[in-house]
Amino acid sequence: MSLTIALSKGRILKDTLPLLEAAGIRLLEDPEHSRKLIFPTSRDGVNVVILRATDVPTFVQHGAADIGVAGKDVLVEHGADGMYELVDLNIARCRLMVAGKVGAQKPDRRLRVATKFINIAKRYYAARGEQVELIKLYGSMELAPIMDMADVIVDVVDTGKTLKENGLEPLELIMPVSSRLIVNKTAMKLKQADILPLVQLLEAAVAERVAS
Ligand code: AMP
Repeated sequence: MSLTIALSKGRILKDTLPLLEAAGIRLLEDPEHSRKLIFPTSRDGVNVVILRATDVPTFVQHGAADIGVAGKDVLVEHGADGMYELVDLNIARCRLMVAGKVGAQKPDRRLRVATKFINIAKRYYAARGEQVELIKLYGSMELAPIMDMADVIVDVVDTGKTLKENGLEPLELIMPVSSRLIVNKTAMKLKQADILPLVQLLEAAVAERVAS
């Protein structure tokens, strides 16, 4: 078999590796201590590539990777063309939220919204009939309200500690987020015999993790 699995760096990776191990796939090298980008695994023909979270759907969509694990936030922002979302892995759970300075009033002018989730924010405010000014950022969103560049941010929140430490508070929930298993549509057709058993093993590992 030949399967390529795309994983996100960071906290999703930490939570995904035990699930993959439960499905019989172990990386032969510790990715935390390697600068490699492609990792062979304990299963012949199965390789893991480790990417920036926002690149995982792109690699799966184009078939460079057959399978991927990505946050629902990243998937909704990117769009799901060319792939199936098969399993909610129930890991790296957090919430996509609007947050702003503690106690700040809504301005009389158009709300300025800083975010890296431009598509999601556009849809969210359009659905509410609100005209806003969107400001694209790639990181450290919390700085935007602090420095009066924006009124609010749209970002993922886990414990809320980062917001709090920067004088911000969560205001509105946009959607709950967890990591999803995605599969390239063509790979699903051509490699079904390899992919389906893996999906079933992962589903079982998720069910076991939830039950314990
Ligand atoms: P928090 O626990 O709310 O202080 O989260 C710390 C930071 O980690 C936030 O600013 C988020 O950008 C990021 N973060 C939290 N949870 C996730 C997640 N599941 N996936 C990606 N980024 C996250």
